[in-house]
Amino acid sequence: MAFRMSLFSGSKDYQFYAAGRWQDGDTKIEVLNPADESVLATTPDATAAQCTEALEFAKQAQKAWGKLTGVERGNCLRKWADLVDERKEKFAQLLSQEVGKPIREARGEIDFGNSWLRYFAGFDRHIEGEILSADQPNEQLWLVPQPAGVAVAVIAWNFPYAVACRKLAPALIAGCAIVLKPHEDTPLTALELAKLAEEAGIPPGIVNVVTGRGATAGAALTSSPLADVISFTGSVKTGKLIAKAAAENVTFASLELGGKAPFLVLNDADVDEAVEIAVFSRFLNCGQICTANERTYVQRGVYEQFLEKYVAKVEGLSVGNPLDEDMYLGPKVNKTELEKVDRMVQAAVAGGATALTGGGLFEREGKYEKGYWYKPTVITGVDNSNPLMQDEIFGPVSPVAPFDDFDEGIALANDTRFGLAGYLVTNDMNKIMRAIRDLELGELYINRGCVESIHGYHTGWKQSGVGGDDGKKGLEHYLRYKSVYLKYQG
Ligand code: NAD
Repeated sequence: MAFRMSLFSGSKDYQFYAAGRWQDGDTKIEVLNPADESVLATTPDATAAQCTEALEFAKQAQKAWGKLTGVERGNCLRKWADLVDERKEKFAQLLSQEVGKPIREARGEIDFGNSWLRYFAGFDRHIEGEILSADQPNEQLWLVPQPAGVAVAVIAWNFPYAVACRKLAPALIAGCAIVLKPHEDTPLTALELAKLAEEAGIPPGIVNVVTGRGATAGAALTSSPLADVISFTGSVKTGKLIAKAAAENVTFASLELGGKAPFLVLNDADVDEAVEIAVFSRFLNCGQICTANERTYVQRGVYEQFLEKYVAKVEGLSVGNPLDEDMYLGPKVNKTELEKVDRMVQAAVAGGATALTGGGLFEREGKYEKGYWYKPTVITGVDNSNPLMQDEIFGPVSPVAPFDDFDEGIALANDTRFGLAGYLVTNDMNKIMRAIRDLELGELYINRGCVESIHGYHTGWKQSGVGGDDGKKGLEHYLRYKSVYLKYQG
């Protein structure tokens, strides 16, 4: 089945935007629609030399940008968001097709991304230093915030528009120039955003969107001494490579990496409510969210009841053409991801686990003839040491296990190398307080489902990362401070 296509430019051959101009590369990368495997577009595979040129140009351009007032920079961000809003449906359709994301979710993601542009614009008069009491008479001690310089951002494929804005907005309001490299599978909405940068008033060289492969373009950008700060969103494996490359240049790298969020349901929970938010937090975006409910632990007293309702709800989810208004689940983003998920499920089943629903690929016929479709799956009988409980699934597969007492639930939740997010469903305030104290993770959702707020701090503990995005704390990563000791006479 061929799904509708609506590229803005009418051309399937994109160029990338860097060093103040639109450029081709030596070779091209095909961007596939994961719903039907058709070629949506091609993008250039930028060379290392093109990446270096982008950084050098950005370095020069940043000097003037950093001297503008915050209000001038904030106005550009607001205008940028307005320009996208005027074309919102086109952005959403393109996003839906490059990721395979249901169209309603895609519209929400465009809004989410724009809310970052506007939120950080609001710091236009709020980038604040400090005046400290001095140690000597007639002295002032100031901490003066200044732009970090040129930011490099490398991002994943699951929220390619929102996460692009999440990096661009704080960098720009801080007075940095930025070179952003989207994932090779999902670069199109970021490129469309770049097309509007100059109309928004952002000078050439301040925003650069470079397309290319991770091992070449990504590595060239993140290993360059021209990068003053790095912000990465992606896997732990790549994050470690970037951390090493950044260390060579002593460059600060904020790493937003993978997750394995536990979802704890206690005996006193409202089971219907728990099912609702467990499904939402597992199956939204086809399970491809770093904070998704990756492993559900249910206290024995409500385990059977929860499981029955959970499976029924999952079996009712609609799966199909992401451009249909009422679709809940689209395909996985690519073949490699699809096969990884299936390997994990088949290995668990071969080891004695039971798929209560789903448990495999859809037959390749009818609406699933082409594309990367996986059946929404609930699976039980998985030991906590199993890869399904320890490695990121990042797909529509939900392992569920019982536990007896609260301490056991907390121990299971913490039994992981990840520490990004977690969930707790209970009305017991003592348990809530103990969970806040004892869970080893950076983002806890209590009695609600996922998706963080733009003004929080999205930060991973353990191998889920260092640094973070969003809010005042995220903005700090794009600033550096100068301590000024000022002596005066009289
Ligand atoms: P990935 O690490 O494979 O790729 C991410 C980006 O890194 C891509 O743009 C890729 O081209 C680039 N890259 C690859 N190799 C590189 C290298 N050697 N040097 C520099 N760049 C390189 O990750 P992915 O498959 O795109 O994304 C999925 C992962 O991202 C999951 O683990 C998910 O949890 C994580 N993620 C985390 C967050 C968060 O905020 N913590 C958000 C979204 C996704």
